[in-house]
Amino acid sequence: MDEDVGGEEYLFKIVVIGDSAVGKSNLLSRFARDEFDLHSKATIGVEFQTQVVDIDGKEVKAQVWDTAGQERFRAVTSAYYRGAVGALIVYDISRRTTFESIKRWLDELNTHCDTTTARMLVGNKSDLENIRDVSVEEGKRLAEEEGLFFIETSALDSTNVKEAFQIVIRAIYNNSRRKVL
Ligand code: GDP
Ligand code: MG
Repeated sequence: MDEDVGGEEYLFKIVVIGDSAVGKSNLLSRFARDEFDLHSKATIGVEFQTQVVDIDGKEVKAQVWDTAGQERFRAVTSAYYRGAVGALIVYDISRRTTFESIKRWLDELNTHCDTTTARMLVGNKSDLENIRDVSVEEGKRLAEEEGLFFIETSALDSTNVKEAFQIVIRAIYNNSRRKVL
């Protein structure tokens, strides 16, 4: 951009992790294209999507990576994590086992990324209130213990999806400014 005489450019890699079928791909497609797929399969899909976000008048490019089904084999490669400065760690509020897996995902994240990585714990499928299996309080508590942001989302009805990504992107942006100054 012409007015960006400082030549600053922001491109942040963000990974989305969590058990199979918690809604990772749908959170990403809702964020990037405002689309939802009721019958999405955990098949190999696109690797990442880039979305431009405005933060304090600065154009920030968020390159959000999708595991594209790798997590089914419990083998998300180190290449997936390389260079990530933000992470959404997702569980399904209607499936307790996916919440119990969060610690394992955090361990994996910690082996690949340093502690400055902005992390958001995401309880997805908040529209499934009638079959809720993990309370909001439990999500909040875990996030506090582990030093994560916390939000509940619904990729189905769009609740908080933009917000989840925005909060992470802003935190990364603030971190990067701190390093520069
Ligand atoms: P992934 O394996 O984590 O990438 O999960 P997907 O995005 O493929 O979603 C798995 C299934 O959950 C699909 O059938 C989606 O339609 C469904 N799903 C994803 N997000 C939501 C949500 O917010 N609410 C509900 N009710 N279903 C969802
Ligand atoms: Mg997927």
